[in-house]
Parts: sequence; C-alpha cells; structure tokens
Amino acid sequence: MSATRAPLHTHADEAARLAALEAYAILDSAPEQAFDDIVRLAVTVCDVPAASISLIDRERVWFKAQIGIDQPQVPRELSLCNHAIDAPGRTLVVDDLAIDPIPAARRRRLGGKPPRFYAGVPLLSPDGYALGTLCVADVRPRHLSDVQVESLELLARQTQHLLELRRMMVEQGRLLSAREQAAQTAELARAEWQRRHDALRQSASRDPLTGLLNRAGMEELLAEALLTAPSERVRYTLLLLDIDYFKQVNDRYGHLAGDEALRAVAQAVISTIRAGDIAVRYGGEEILVYLPGTSLAAATEVAHRIREAVTRAALPFRLTVSVGVAAGDPTRDTPAQTFDRADQALYRAKQGGRDRVAVDDTPMLS
Ligand code: GH3
Ligand code: MG
Ligand code: MG
Repeated sequence: MSATRAPLHTHADEAARLAALEAYAILDSAPEQAFDDIVRLAVTVCDVPAASISLIDRERVWFKAQIGIDQPQVPRELSLCNHAIDAPGRTLVVDDLAIDPIPAARRRRLGGKPPRFYAGVPLLSPDGYALGTLCVADVRPRHLSDVQVESLELLARQTQHLLELRRMMVEQGRLLSAREQAAQTAELARAEWQRRHDALRQSASRDPLTGLLNRAGMEELLAEALLTAPSERVRYTLLLLDIDYFKQVNDRYGHLAGDEALRAVAQAVISTIRAGDIAVRYGGEEILVYLPGTSLAAATEVAHRIREAVTRAALPFRLTVSVGVAAGDPTRDTPAQTFDRADQALYRAKQGGRDRVAVDDTPMLS
C-alpha cells in the first residue's frame, strides 16, 4: 500500500490514532459477513492457514475477522500487527521470523506453534492513521509472489472501504440523534416559552386585587369576539356595577378596608354569575359583567342577586352597589352603544337613591 495520498502518522500520534479508530465504533462489534469474506479470500489467495483483520486498540489487538487464530484478541505487546503499523505506509512481509525476528513473535502461537511467516498490510483512515492491519500468517516459512502481495493489498483497500462505509453510517447515526436531540430541546423550549407566555398573559390581563379581568384583558376578549362573524355572535346583556359612596368607605375606614370591600364585591359578582359570563374590573370601583345569551329580564335578576349578595358581605360596615343593565344585539348595535346605555341606566340608579338596579329601556337602534 505504498500509493497512499494522506500523510502518514507514527506512534507519536497515538492519541489521535486512537481517536480515529474510535470514530468507526467497531471494537467489540459483532462479526460481519463482509469482513469474514475478506479474511477467507486472504487465506485462499496467499495459501496460508491464518488471516485476520486486526484493529489495534490502546492495549490490545482485537480481531474483527479471523481464520486460524483461536483468541478474539491478544495483548498489544504480543502482536505482530502492532509492529507492522510502525511503518504505516508499507506492507510488512517477513518470510521467516526465525531469520528476521520480531520480538513479539517469540511469544505468539498459531494453533500451539510459533509463527514463522507473517505479512501485514496496514489499514489506514482517510487522514493517514493506521487503525490495524489485514494480515496473514503461517507456522511455516513462506514466500509470497508479487501477485499475492498485490492481492493482499487490494483486499486491504477493500477492507478500508468497508471501514469507511461503517464510519459514515456511525456518523450519520450520531448526526441523526443529535438532530433528534436538538428537536426535542427546541420542543421543550417552545413549551416552556408558551407556559411563561400564558402565565404572563394571565397576570397581565388579571387585576391582582380582585382576580377579575382588567380592561386590557377585556379588550383582548372583545377583539377575539369581534373576529366572530356578526351572524354567529349571540345577544348579550351588560351589567355595569358601581360601589355606592365608596369614597366615604376609604375616608372613614381607610384604604385597606376599601380594598377589602372591593374584593367582597368582586366575590359577590363571581359567586353569582355563570361559567360563560365574564366580569371585568372596569374602573377603580366599577365592575362590568358580560352575560352572553342572556335576556334583559334574566340579567336583571342576576343584577338583583349581586346587589343582595353585596349587602350580605361580611364587612364591618354596610356596603351597597348600584347596577345599570342593558341588552346588546350584535347584529344591530355596537358594544360601545350597549355600554353607553348600561352607563346611563347606572346613572339613573345612582340618581334614584343608590343600592338599586336600573334597566335600560331605550329601544335598540335599528
Ligand atoms: P358614588 O356612589 O357616586 O359612586 O360615590 P363614590 O364615592 O363611590 O364615587 P367616586 O367615583 O367619587 O369614588 C370612587 C372611589 O373609589 C374613589 C377612589 O378612592 C376609590 N377607589 C378606586 N379604586 C380603588 C381601590 O383600588 N382601592 C380602594 N380602597 N379605593 C379605590
Ligand atoms: Mg365610580
Ligand atoms: Mg362609586
């Protein structure tokens, strides 16, 4: 294998050589027909009893395929292949180890006998690291013809192709799992972002004192509602509720007591309305309730129940509310028009003496 284009590395680059070998994930892998076929061809072509594809690990030589060798691996210092990769660009051929000894050979046995003949072609990675050898051996001295040496080198090249194929598959597998991992990480990040976004939206659209929606939240809801086609929008009723003489509550009992009263009113609203209804803290002490699919009469009933619930609130002072009620027909008027009519009704409730419900009676615009 003298015609190699890549730079060749010696044992000085051992760490890099081991890293190159690692990339094939081949050590201790299961036998494979393609590698077995190559050693079978090697023994046939060279007419010898033993051949192996030897991979040189840190302290051992492991056989990916072998014929005529009993062990699956040998200590590195006992390996002739380890000697062969000292000159990674050349095929090492020793016709008679008794004449040209390799120290390791003295302690090696092939079928119980010391080897006398050895030929090993270094197997190189594309960047020139010797991963191991394709080798043949015999317990008798031998001489390979030029054609046999060339054939052995040709088989070594085929082995290198198989190794590269394997490395590319390993690499592809790693890339794939890295991509899967990246996708998983992205999905987790997206879910986390969504969770935070929802929490933020929730807190940004809720009034912290009463837990009701705030005006920003209401506008969001309104925008969503307006995306629905008018024909699909349902009739609804609005309640506009305002605490009576609330300024006095603050002045007499303090701002904290005022906050407590606000929470009590919100609670009276929440405990009275149904699941599909929406209550908004519209102003300082004004609450707007949206009752979809609810008639004016039914909504007026709800308003009375809220008013009564407020008078029963567990507070150290008497608290009352006034409520204006107005029905809305999305096919005939805008929410702003309905709101105005609820506001006018509320004004009349205040004018009428407070602690009461006033219902809008103006005919709807047509
Ligand atoms: P009316 O019966 O006419 O509604 O009288 P009122 O005193 O309730 O009316 P007004 O709108 O003048 O007063 C509203 C008061 O609500 C003024 C403000 O101090 C109080 N207020 C608004 N928001 C809060 C709040 O978050 N906490 C407290 N404690 N008070 C609030
Ligand atoms: Mg007010
Ligand atoms: Mg008020």
